[in-house]
Amino acid sequence: MIRSVCLLWLLLQLAVTAEAATLKLSAPLEQGTAVFLNASASLGTPDEIKWSGTLNGIPFPLTSDGEALIALDMEAPPGKVTIEVTATGPHGVKEVATRVVTVGKRTYQEEHVTLPEGQVTLSNKEDEERVQRETEAIKATFKIREGKVGFIEGFRLPVTGRFSGVFGSRRILNGKPRRPHNGVDIATPKGTVVPAPASGMVVLVGNDYLLTGNTLVLNHGHGVMTLYAHLDSINVAMGQWVPKGQTIGTVGTTGRSTGPHLHWGTMVRGQRVDPMRLPGLEKSETSPQ
Ligand SMILES: [Zn+2]
Repeated sequence: MIRSVCLLWLLLQLAVTAEAATLKLSAPLEQGTAVFLNASASLGTPDEIKWSGTLNGIPFPLTSDGEALIALDMEAPPGKVTIEVTATGPHGVKEVATRVVTVGKRTYQEEHVTLPEGQVTLSNKEDEERVQRETEAIKATFKIREGKVGFIEGFRLPVTGRFSGVFGSRRILNGKPRRPHNGVDIATPKGTVVPAPASGMVVLVGNDYLLTGNTLVLNHGHGVMTLYAHLDSINVAMGQWVPKGQTIGTVGTTGRSTGPHLHWGTMVRGQRVDPMRLPGLEKSETSPQ
């Protein structure tokens, strides 16, 4: 009797493992783009399943419901990208879903900007050291991986206005090439209220940074960070949990800026992502591309 029960159990396990897990993407995965991944498996109830995933062999986190935000950097090499998700159920039984996508090369604009030399270069060692310190403080937030997940509902536009700077543009400043623009610039009057595009925790309040002015970074969990620069005022404090839609600050022209605008940047586990290509914003009418 015991033997037949065991055999039945084994057969059931085989039947379960034969059915593969599935994964869905909310949009095509491209350079500088973040998409929702939704995985499902049939080997147990949601709280019995443990999820793990890799993108080209690099692990990414999933929620207990099998959801993740995956992204490719603006300069990710074109070619084949392999996404693999593993569900581990009761008794260690696994189901795997694999997807191979071919990533093309995105064309970015080239922007020629002429500014007085004093606004472009740093005049002394003190300023150079200050910029280095402030840049490191910002970069440190891009390394954070812990924190409550706030991106699941998707993103909304923080402010509307004219796009005075697009994502990925190659900036030639006074004839010299600079780093590509890793965000979008939305020109809108000083004092315009900036609501949080998604729920998140305040992980950086940078007061009057030399280049980026009043600077704020929100942590949306799983290494998803959004950055706001040149703010006139910051209305939230370090460590504060900000629900989607709550005011985080107001638009300004602090730091090195030629007029009131919001610089909005997005990082997904260190990958530079076009904020206009975050889930929820793909169909935004004000998208510059
Ligand atoms: Zn900008």
